[in-house]
Amino acid sequence: PPVADVEALQHADVAALLPHPTAETDKYRRGVVGVVAGSARYPGAAVLAVAGALRSGAGAVRYVGPGQDAVLARFPETLVSEGPPQHAGRVQAWAIGPGLGDEPASRRAVEEVLAHDVPVLVDADGLRLMDVETVRARTAPTLLTPHAGEASALLGVAREQVEAGRLAAARDLAAHTGATVLLKGSTTLIAAPPDGSTGQAPPVRVNATGTSRLATAGSGDVLTGLAGGLLATGLTARDAASVAAYVHGLAGRLAPDPPSATDVADALPPAWQDVL
Ligand code: AMP
Ligand code: MG
Repeated sequence: PPVADVEALQHADVAALLPHPTAETDKYRRGVVGVVAGSARYPGAAVLAVAGALRSGAGAVRYVGPGQDAVLARFPETLVSEGPPQHAGRVQAWAIGPGLGDEPASRRAVEEVLAHDVPVLVDADGLRLMDVETVRARTAPTLLTPHAGEASALLGVAREQVEAGRLAAARDLAAHTGATVLLKGSTTLIAAPPDGSTGQAPPVRVNATGTSRLATAGSGDVLTGLAGGLLATGLTARDAASVAAYVHGLAGRLAPDPPSATDVADALPPAWQDVL
């Protein structure tokens, strides 16, 4: 078989990708990220995804969903809206999925967000609720952030098969959905879909900054907010996923040991300092 077409994500690559605010920057130019997460059953997912988004470099975080009081109690800087996502006001990219559960309102929210012609990140329960045909038909970028179990459900194969061939799984899922895929695990793989005209996909990026201490409930929700916020700053899906995985991994190392997901979110600012 041909040598795998992969590249290791390096510090200098990440530093070069970062958006740098200028004197002319205002919060709208830095990007507004809309977060749709949480449910009556999983209210904490909303707080954690917002925590990641607030440390992403986006200019503002708009939270749409239940549990707004909990989000505001922890993060008064969050903008909140009650109604459906399409009435939420200005949003340059969406991050949707953690803790949505199975509620009909959650399914509708996923549909509405995917119908919006801006970059969308889908994670966790959102990956189950989304319609793959809808994702394929989108013209704006889509970023999917599954772990092995979520990827196996989307591919219709056993989880063991994904774990035994993570590189192929990430590539296959990107080709199947037409979306960029960030496959989580001990290393994080970032696979972009093949180009429509050439059929070629760029190299799969491998991020190894993570630590097994990140294997803790809610740390993926923090990554979702972080990567969604980077999409809102204007990075491509591939670059937003790369920077998010890199910085999130560093935060896992900088957080007090053993970290909770909240500790990982709180370690994002020092992680950024390492990269800037
Ligand atoms: P989730 O599976 O959504 O809870 O997300 C877990 C997060 O922790 C992802 O960012 C994973 O890449 C990371 N993670 C989980 N297990 C490990 C591990 N063994 N080594 C490094 N990172 C991990
Ligand atoms: Mg998760």
